[in-house]
Amino acid sequence: MKKYIEGTVKSLPLAGLIEEAGTAKKYNTGTWGTFKPVFLEEHCIQCFFCWVYCPDSAVTVNEGKVVGFDYDHCKGCAICAYECPTKPKSIVMEKK
Ligand code: SF4
Ligand code: SF4
Repeated sequence: MKKYIEGTVKSLPLAGLIEEAGTAKKYNTGTWGTFKPVFLEEHCIQCFFCWVYCPDSAVTVNEGKVVGFDYDHCKGCAICAYECPTKPKSIVMEKK
């Protein structure tokens, strides 16, 4: 696949070129956050709100149940904890 525009000033690389699908999984963005979510299974009603709202697909599921988080890809945004409907919360944010 052609990566550069020939004949232009210094042959600028094309922007936004994705040559391979699924590359986001290779980047461990979990180091970006200051906080991390902690799962409190005893309060969880398995509504899956956290799984639906997580922007990084970092809520892990096993045999049809939420079981925790993929800390390699979780950025600690706290959306899962915010959306969790239980009282007390089934997800709390902790400083790393
Ligand atoms: S803190 Fe953000 S990135 Fe991490 S699991 Fe929750 S919603 Fe996903
Ligand atoms: S949003 Fe809260 S109650 Fe719902 S599945 Fe996630 S942790 Fe459990």
